Amino acid sequence: MKLKQVSSIPDELLTIDAKSLHSLIPEPTLFHLPGKQQQPLFISVLLHGNETTGFLALQKLLIKFRDQKLPRALSFYFGNTEAANQGLRRLDHQPDYNRIWPNTELANSSETQTAQEIVNIMAKKKVFASIDVHNNTGLNPHYACITKLEPHFLQLANIYGRLVVYFTHPKGVQCGAFAEICPSVTLECGKPGQAHGVDHAFEYLNSCLHLSEFSNNPVPTQDIDVYHTVAQVKIKEGTHFSFNNQQSNLLLDKDLERMNFTEIPAGTQWGRVFDHSDIPVTAINESGMLVTDKFFSLTDNRLQLNINTMPSMLTLDERVIKQDCLCYLMEKIKL
Ligand SMILES: [Zn+2]
Repeated sequence: MKLKQVSSIPDELLTIDAKSLHSLIPEPTLFHLPGKQQQPLFISVLLHGNETTGFLALQKLLIKFRDQKLPRALSFYFGNTEAANQGLRRLDHQPDYNRIWPNTELANSSETQTAQEIVNIMAKKKVFASIDVHNNTGLNPHYACITKLEPHFLQLANIYGRLVVYFTHPKGVQCGAFAEICPSVTLECGKPGQAHGVDHAFEYLNSCLHLSEFSNNPVPTQDIDVYHTVAQVKIKEGTHFSFNNQQSNLLLDKDLERMNFTEIPAGTQWGRVFDHSDIPVTAINESGMLVTDKFFSLTDNRLQLNINTMPSMLTLDERVIKQDCLCYLMEKIKL
């Protein structure tokens, strides 16, 4: 489907819910609204159809400026409205809308073409900054993600909060594509459906809209904590694990989920191991090397951390752990 571009918004957009949005905007549509400063701020929401916080925050922003001129031009895009209609991340036949952007590893499709077209259009408009808004699962704090450790990126991320994650994988994400043409962030606004998540995202979008320029001074290091992923942790194939079944090979600690985005000291126990002489998890670094022994050891049948680290994405959902991984481990970056 061809990308549509429009320069006004229908009134219904201010009141509609994410489920009904598809009926109002059935085709891929890029909106451009004028503002006092001409270089537009770009916002994308609903790249994952069930992550509604960004949509609600953007709607709040549009309501606020309904009768006044925007401080800066604003362009925005509603990602997967079809999946939003079903309350799903994506539909079975669709690619992930946050893996389709320039530099993607996915095959060419109408979705990758639309994404490329959006980036081309925004590059021509000399986009000021880009914000892509998401939600996640599990107990995670709000944080911003960046793909470049440059002052303007750090500044844009720091407006959302002190917690920042630097990442270079996966490829084809919106944030990485826009990073080639302007300062760019992804917001992770906690679980969907939380009013304080919407308020926080709205305040952030509003602040960015009022930002007249980026400062060339570095962000004060005491105001920001930047982490990067150093390993992905999986349970070893064939290991029976559980959070409550005493009969399993690996009985994981029920408090694990609370460790997300908390600096956990060396020696912390993650679980107990039965009928097993080797470590029942694997840790793989970003270049695909096995680094299990750096992070974990087995002492008196206790699985424990060897070094201080900060986990993320820990969940108590055994299905997610089997399908995906147990967690990621992060390290603080010295700026
Ligand atoms: Zn998402």
